[in-house]
Formats: sequence, C-alpha cells, structure tokens
Amino acid sequence: MDTIKNRLINRIIRTIVYSDNRKKDIRVTYHFDREALKDKPIILLSDHSAVKNFSNIFADYFYVSDNIIPVIGNVMDYAPKIGPFLKNYPHVSKKMYVTDFKAAVQMVRYIKKGKSLLLFPEGTHSFCGMTHPVSPALGGFLKKFRIDVVLASTKGAYLSTPFYSKEAKSGPVEVDFFHLFTGEDLKEMDETEIYDRFMTHFEYNDFRWNAEHRYSYTGEKANAAGIEKILYKCPCCHREGFITTGNNRIICGNCGNSVTMDDTYALYPSTEKDTLPFGRVDEWFLSQRQELAEEIRKNAGFLLKMNVELNVLNEDEKSMFKPVGKGEVTISRKGVTYSGTEEGEAVSFTLPISSMTGSSNQYDIYMVMYRDNDTIAFDCSSEKPGMIVKACGAIEELHALSDSQWEEALRRVYPLL
Ligand SMILES: [Zn+2]
Repeated sequence: MDTIKNRLINRIIRTIVYSDNRKKDIRVTYHFDREALKDKPIILLSDHSAVKNFSNIFADYFYVSDNIIPVIGNVMDYAPKIGPFLKNYPHVSKKMYVTDFKAAVQMVRYIKKGKSLLLFPEGTHSFCGMTHPVSPALGGFLKKFRIDVVLASTKGAYLSTPFYSKEAKSGPVEVDFFHLFTGEDLKEMDETEIYDRFMTHFEYNDFRWNAEHRYSYTGEKANAAGIEKILYKCPCCHREGFITTGNNRIICGNCGNSVTMDDTYALYPSTEKDTLPFGRVDEWFLSQRQELAEEIRKNAGFLLKMNVELNVLNEDEKSMFKPVGKGEVTISRKGVTYSGTEEGEAVSFTLPISSMTGSSNQYDIYMVMYRDNDTIAFDCSSEKPGMIVKACGAIEELHALSDSQWEEALRRVYPLL
C-alpha cells in the first residue's frame, strides 16, 4: 500500500478510535516535546497490560506520527473482523515466543524505508496486571536500529479490562509516553544497560498501583467475576481448581475459605473465620507462580497433563482456529507432547522445550505453538479454570532451566521464594 493511502486510512482510524477513547477516562501525558519527534521514525514500545492497550496507544501516538507500522502476533491475521482488515493494512505478523527471521527482516525493511514500528515486547497480554517477562535480547535489538525509542506506559488499563473477564469497566486509565532513548544513547550504551533502563521504566503492576490510588472500577459484573481463571490455587488449603466466584466473593470449594473483593480490587477475608495471606491479587498470583517454579526446579519428573483439542489456523475468517483432533497434552522437561488424533489418524508428536520460551494464550482458551512452520493451538477449555495460565507459566519455567538469559528475564518479574 502506498504511503499516502496508508496515512489516510491511519487518520480515519485515529479519529474513530481517538474520539471513542475520549468518551472514557483515559489520561494521556507526553513527557517530551511532541514537535521534536514529529514524524521522525521511531520504535514505539508499549506494555500489553490489557487487550485494549493496542487501541489506546495506537490512536494517541498518532498525534505525534501517523507513519507507524504495528508488529502483531501472527494469529491476529486470522481473528474474526480484525483479520480481514489486516489483509489490506501494512503490519508485521510475528510468531510469538519463537525466533521469527521473516518478521525480523520485515521490521528492518520498514525502518530502512523511514517508517516507525509499534511493538509489544511482552509478546502476550498480561495475565495478572503485572509485567510479563521480556527477553533481554531486546537490548541488542534496539541497539541495532539506533533510532529514537518511545515508551508507552499504562496504568489502570488491566483494571479497566481484566484479562480474566474482558468486561470493559469504567475507571481511569493513565497513558504516559516517554522518550526513552535517542539514537545516540543506543550507540553509547551496551545491550545490558539498554535492557536495564528499558525494564526500569517499563515494569508495571496495576494492583499495587491502585492499592495506593484506590480508584473504583465498575461494570455490570463484580470485579471478582471470573478471577478463578488466573487464581487457580487456594492460598489456605493449597488445592488447585476449586476456586469459584459469586458476586464479589472468591470461594474455595475444598476448604470453604471466602475472600471479598471491592470496587478498587482490594481483597478482604469475607468473615472473621476466613483468612487471607495476601491483600492484593498480584501477590496471590505471584505466590502461585513461585510455588510452580519451585516444583519445576526440584522435580525432574514434573508433568502437567491436560485434555485438549488440537487446532489449526482457520482460513474462512469465521474463527481464528478450527479443531482437527482430540487428545492429551503432557508438559515436561522434554517439551510439549501431544498424543491423540489428527484428521482421523492417531498421532503423537513432541515440541521440544528448547524451541519455545513460552506460549501465548488466546481468549483464555487456546495455547498457541508452532510445529515446524505451522501454527497450531491446543484448546484447553475442557480443563478446570486457570489450568491454561498454569500451563503457560510451566512452559516458561521449564525453558528457563536451560536458558540463563530467559531465566534472568523471569526472575526479574517473578523472583523465587
Ligand atoms: Zn481451600
């Protein structure tokens, strides 16, 4: 698509999304002189604390430059509504949690043409309103380009559209744009310094942030509704898969402990006989993750089994994936093994753990992976709530056992017990 047509379409989108954003409580601050960066090619890096970050960032940064190419997970080309639109819209499709040379070449080409890139370095949206690990390889990536880098940092975005419910809630979202590096900075700094400066400004935690601000977020459903999709382990009896939610209560079906969540997402024991070791959702989530990391490090025979449907990308634009078989997935130090059927035939294959740092979780149903060059997805919806979040975490932790750089990235976000 030529630049003029591209810019015209961008301006139309910007106007629609921007005016929609203005109806909500989105507070945008530019911490730099917009004129100085106007229309300059930049790399715009954004957190992915919520599904809606994309529209917040995209529309708002357009007021500095409309010459920006988004880098998007390759499965989005197959998403209903978005996929058909992307067919005519310049973007880079990137495979997630694996090396994607084709996408890297496209990014270099766009930068050479004087375009800007929008990237979400976490590779997937945040499960729990806190930073998802970012590979330290980002330092080397930015150093290669040596152009201005702008960071878009959000607060409250997760709380306004939590991953576990996807319901849009009314409440404030802050979007801050920082001019994080000049081309000259990147030339002088080494890769580790670049990564450290990036992470220091990038790291976020919406639950911790709002424990201080105490803003209310309200929607049709209570804020607790659906939270068993990320909080799968009871903090009292330590059993998994028994958490349920009703109105603003989070209840363990095994030991009966009950916790109440208010409009600010703060947690309290529901009655005097109930207990809660944490005051915040992120602390609960972190403790689950720490216990999982501990188990994986100590137990060489660690296994996580799930009943799944095997899916492939769907070309007919009605849904992202289509099922082609049924079976069982086993996650272990060896990798992710599928045993079951595919197109009516019995099959078994293993995707080595060394080939992926993690798995992206689409719609809280699918774990996306790559078999050779093909995208496949395991539909985990017949499993108990939260098991897909645990499985994605297990893959990240298992990969880190033999990848010290990835281990460093995980420990920065999820320190060990
Ligand atoms: Zn319990």
